[in-house]
Amino acid sequence: MEKDQLPTRRTLLTGVAALGAAGAGGALAAGLGTEPARPPAPAPGPPQRSPLKPSEYRLRPLAGHGAAHATPRRPPVRSEPILRVTGRGRTMLLTFDDGPHPEYTPQILDTLAKYEVRATFFVCGEMADYNRDLLSRMSDEGHVVGNHTWSHPLLTSLTRRRIRSEMERTSEVVEQAYGEAPRWFRAPYGAWNRAAFQLGAELGMEPLAWTVDTLDWTTPGTGTIVDRVEDGAAPGVVVLSHDAGGDRSQSVRALRRYLPVLLDSGYHLTVPRRRLL
Ligand code: ZN
Repeated sequence: MEKDQLPTRRTLLTGVAALGAAGAGGALAAGLGTEPARPPAPAPGPPQRSPLKPSEYRLRPLAGHGAAHATPRRPPVRSEPILRVTGRGRTMLLTFDDGPHPEYTPQILDTLAKYEVRATFFVCGEMADYNRDLLSRMSDEGHVVGNHTWSHPLLTSLTRRRIRSEMERTSEVVEQAYGEAPRWFRAPYGAWNRAAFQLGAELGMEPLAWTVDTLDWTTPGTGTIVDRVEDGAAPGVVVLSHDAGGDRSQSVRALRRYLPVLLDSGYHLTVPRRRLL
């Protein structure tokens, strides 16, 4: 797709600077997911952290989807997106936008699985519709799927009716293919407006932006992407990368390099958890 090469990306760059400044000022923060609740302990044995079998993920709630809150309350209507997360220790979120893509997304999922790390995928409805199997895999492997609109438009140029359509259709596809409706959304190009915040809340979603932009869509080189993630790493940071929208082979290779480094540095890479309001 060419959408990420649109001139409107310039708008994003301006927006990123603004978001970064806001983030430094102690802006909104979301809770972090803790490890999913585990079933009752089996018979005593050697303590070990065995990986979950896919079927087990199906039986337990994802982070923020506690069984006692099967009907979540509608989130508040915010005036700015959440930029970073709170949590104990060195916690970070990895997020991948614009997919899922049949070539790049499975490679990213393979790397995440290798290290038993969960991430968040902000999918576009038109991509998700053609790659439903990948949303199913994300569900099986414990990842979070967010709403990134249907066709990746600049929301600030659309009518409220169009924005609603973009968001509703995407939530429907996610619910069908992933198994539940998305709880998070992210505006394309980081261009938010009041209608997007209002409609997102109506659809039960919180707005999540990012703290560190890898700018991987400019294909700056694998090493540069790795450096941006490692230099930007800090507790509460949300990292933005892309798994579609162009050649994302650099993003795929970069993940293979920075992920073990972050883990070796003591970072806990997890998924967002909705605050109970
Ligand atoms: Zn995007």
